[in-house]
Amino acid sequence: MDTVSGTAWRPAARVAGMGTSIFTEMTELARATGAINLGQGVPELASPPALLRDVADAVLAGANQYPPAAGLLALREAVAAHQERCYGLAYDPAAEVLVTTGATEALAAAVLALCDPGDEIIAFDPCYDAYAADARLAGATLVGVPLAVDGEGFLLDGDALRAAVTPRTRALILNTPHNPTGKVFTPAELAAVAALCQEHDLTVITDEVYEHLVYTDRPHLPIAALPGMRERTVTVSSAGKTFNTTGWKVGWVSGPAPLVAAVNAAKQFLTYASGTPYQGALARALGSVEEWAAGLRAELRANRDLLTEGLRAAGLRPFRADAGYFVQADVRPAGYRDGVAFCRELPGRVGVVAIPTSAFQLAEGPRWLVRFSFCKRPAVLEDAVARLRRSAD
Ligand SMILES: *Cc1c(COP(=O)(O)O)cnc(C)c1O
Repeated sequence: MDTVSGTAWRPAARVAGMGTSIFTEMTELARATGAINLGQGVPELASPPALLRDVADAVLAGANQYPPAAGLLALREAVAAHQERCYGLAYDPAAEVLVTTGATEALAAAVLALCDPGDEIIAFDPCYDAYAADARLAGATLVGVPLAVDGEGFLLDGDALRAAVTPRTRALILNTPHNPTGKVFTPAELAAVAALCQEHDLTVITDEVYEHLVYTDRPHLPIAALPGMRERTVTVSSAGKTFNTTGWKVGWVSGPAPLVAAVNAAKQFLTYASGTPYQGALARALGSVEEWAAGLRAELRANRDLLTEGLRAAGLRPFRADAGYFVQADVRPAGYRDGVAFCRELPGRVGVVAIPTSAFQLAEGPRWLVRFSFCKRPAVLEDAVARLRRSAD
């Protein structure tokens, strides 16, 4: 509990207990031990050189003041063109696209705009840690639906999903491709989610920041593209993961005009607007993202294979990662039952840092899952894999 001596100060209930997390603990362990940090998903890969030059030029040319609250029209047009070109989804850039301060702000603004205190929001468990925090800031409750763990991947449990709906359920947060599991929801799973949302009139907030990082032959399928879903779906994405520019914090929302207007109503009082020089440059980069993303996928796929093999050689049981930055591994074959204990020992024992998947679990789930990230330079991953292999000798 944080206090200030001599005062009656206390944190507001909505943030009490949100303090330091296992992420902070593991990052500090990495620093203290000199271990290789495969915990956090901070990419070490390159960005498109033309994009970097365009940002520098824009700063020097004086694009340094507030953009319009909804974002530069050029970027809103580029997002609309991207949704149309990649997914056949038509949005009006003037009324149905909103630029945000990263996907993080888009998610917070969407939850604040679309949910009231007392509402329930469904999310698949484990999930990205912002969802529970956003629900709490809105006075709503995040209700987890556990993903089933099969031999090598994670599956939607349709019965558990249906059982989670109550009269208070207002919205569903979907995340595909999924962090922390690397799961891509299949067309059949998306259809099941879509049918349930239509049956119960739920709004969908879908987090698609890994849309371009799918390593299978089946490209990303946004739930908004399913019949009857466009009108109830707010789609969130971001430049961070697609262009390795997580520090720029430029994201966007697309959806039907009334929903986007509501999100904008919240967003304008969170940040108003941000990132003018980035927005113009990203509008250009998004225009040819397919070519860029193909190269990035090839790099990340090779990294995934390297890490997966290394985890296996270290005596762990890695799961299939079809997308994103992360591989999940079962630590029980290495003699551990608890991912937290495994992760606390790993830096000293092996010289590698990972994150226990329980940090992403809303309810008690498998304790033996650990998340490793592979969005690193190949040399760093090779070093990590060599350390993991040695640990099994
Ligand atoms: C990284 C990440 C975000 C945050 O995106 P920003 O654009 O950096 O705010 C949101 N959702 C998921 C699933 C992520 O992995």
